[in-house]
Amino acid sequence: MTDQTPEAPEPQGRPPEAPPAPAQQGNQQRRPQGQRPQQQRNNQPQWPDLSVVIPLYNEEESLKELHQQLRSALSRMNLRYEILFIDDGSTDRSFQVLRDLKRTDKHIKVIRFRRNYGKSAALSVGFEKAMGNIVVTLDADLQDDPAEIPSLKKRLDDGLDLVSGWKKKRKDPLSKTIPSRFFNFVTARLTGIRIHDFNCGLKAYRREVVKTVKVYGELHRYVPVLAHWEGFRVGEVVVQHRPRKFGKSKFGVGRFWRGFLDLLTALFTTRYLRSPLHLFGFWGLAAVGAGVVIDGWLAVQWYLGRTSLGNRPLFLGGILCIIVGIQFISIGLLGEMISKTRAAETEYQIRDFIK
Ligand code: UDP
Ligand code: MG
Repeated sequence: MTDQTPEAPEPQGRPPEAPPAPAQQGNQQRRPQGQRPQQQRNNQPQWPDLSVVIPLYNEEESLKELHQQLRSALSRMNLRYEILFIDDGSTDRSFQVLRDLKRTDKHIKVIRFRRNYGKSAALSVGFEKAMGNIVVTLDADLQDDPAEIPSLKKRLDDGLDLVSGWKKKRKDPLSKTIPSRFFNFVTARLTGIRIHDFNCGLKAYRREVVKTVKVYGELHRYVPVLAHWEGFRVGEVVVQHRPRKFGKSKFGVGRFWRGFLDLLTALFTTRYLRSPLHLFGFWGLAAVGAGVVIDGWLAVQWYLGRTSLGNRPLFLGGILCIIVGIQFISIGLLGEMISKTRAAETEYQIRDFIK
């Protein structure tokens, strides 16, 4: 049991943009209003400038070396930092290794899942717990180089909200790089985001981004898409990539079709979530229109006695188009009804407010 509680006490009462703390249970925990902020301001701990979030699943061999590299990179940056390891239900000794590392470095925090939930879940928890003004994510398998963190941070300082690493020279097998090129190309085209490498583990975010974007399912590949849609400025920087030193990739070939389905989800939940009829209605009207033209033309031919409808498969095709089209429009309208009932929850991202 004690394994699972983070050892360092969590500072409370982060500045305004942090999500509201979960409702507390039991009256005895509630403090009188007005007292709490005052008290906290007096003994408020210093917030880190930078949080490093590392999702990991069975990476016991890499962790020590990764920590050394991180430590040397971060100590040179001369800022306050924390390192959050999210153990995504590892079945090897990863957690024990992390616990030992934590004893040697007070910057480390370790969160351990009860079972393997996937990289997106690990990132999502890391984003929730991160305290820094800047959040950097990094894979635990030593493929990403912590020495790149300063150059990512520099792009944020220059005004971007999310900087994605671009593994220009990838050190992965062809079976991975070729489909990935295809995916990156299609994703960039469909979303209009001009970056080359959506799935790089090495990324840096301004705090507002990680507190806004919801990463679930396997959407970690499309965080830049979700962020772009919320209005954040997304850019990239070329980073060194290294071959996997220990173990093997945790994603099999299933990543490709799942990645494709996730792209659909990412597109749909960003572009069309608030106006589903724009997607379904367009294709629905197109299908109904095509069906009406086809069957209308056949009906005229039949009326003039030039054809009999019984031996024209196209006639059925036209009917199919009309039925499918009407269904599409109906789905779009249903979607609109659902999104209307959710309208109250809709959040708009305000960047500046000058009074
Ligand atoms: N990972 C995770 N949960 C999973 C699968 C992977 O936390 O279910 C972590 C993994 O330990 C690594 C990162 O996500 O730190 C990227 O995984 P991997 O290196 O296997 O992916 P690839 O480099 O092949 O894209
Ligand atoms: Mg890897």
